[in-house]
Amino acid sequence: MPHAVVIDWGDGCRNVLPPASSPSLPWRLRHIGILVTSGRDCWKCHAPAQDTGVCVVVTDAAGLTSWWVGAYSPFEPMFSDIFMQALATRFGVRRRYSKTMGAEYLANTCLKCGALSGDNFVFNDFNGLGGGFSNERYLANPCTLYELSAPWDSQPRQYDFLKPGFYQRVDRSRITQVIAPDAGYPFWRPMTS
Ligand SMILES: [Zn+2]
Repeated sequence: MPHAVVIDWGDGCRNVLPPASSPSLPWRLRHIGILVTSGRDCWKCHAPAQDTGVCVVVTDAAGLTSWWVGAYSPFEPMFSDIFMQALATRFGVRRRYSKTMGAEYLANTCLKCGALSGDNFVFNDFNGLGGGFSNERYLANPCTLYELSAPWDSQPRQYDFLKPGFYQRVDRSRITQVIAPDAGYPFWRPMTS
């Protein structure tokens, strides 16, 4: 009987993070993961929906920690094929064309009907219709963090994508469940007979 192999996200992928630098406000990367929350219904089929994003935890030059959640696109070049499959089947995160963005990118979709909930909706409260990370109605809802391994150092770097509208701060108190990489992710494991 083969051992179940935990497939992590950096599997076979290159590091795309910015080079170590010494700008005025360098950040050190502490944790990274997939953050999941729920509460809203799908705008199209009205089934219960979840919102997901990449959670980035950094400390600044003063040692203060901030928690951010946002788009998948800055990290997509690191995602292996099997990780992309896991994102699609477990979270409904798929490459989709967005008219608003005028481009195809990794976005949240409804697990039931496939309707797109684009970045502008999930991380930026578009027309007040935003999802679990941006709409005031959901900001008290709990989140689960699936931590990912960090295959890089914690040298100070400038993470330019950590900006409002694309990434946003998330209140640490919302994260009521943290699942560590070494706990094993059922959805990372390939289906074996
Ligand atoms: Zn739906």
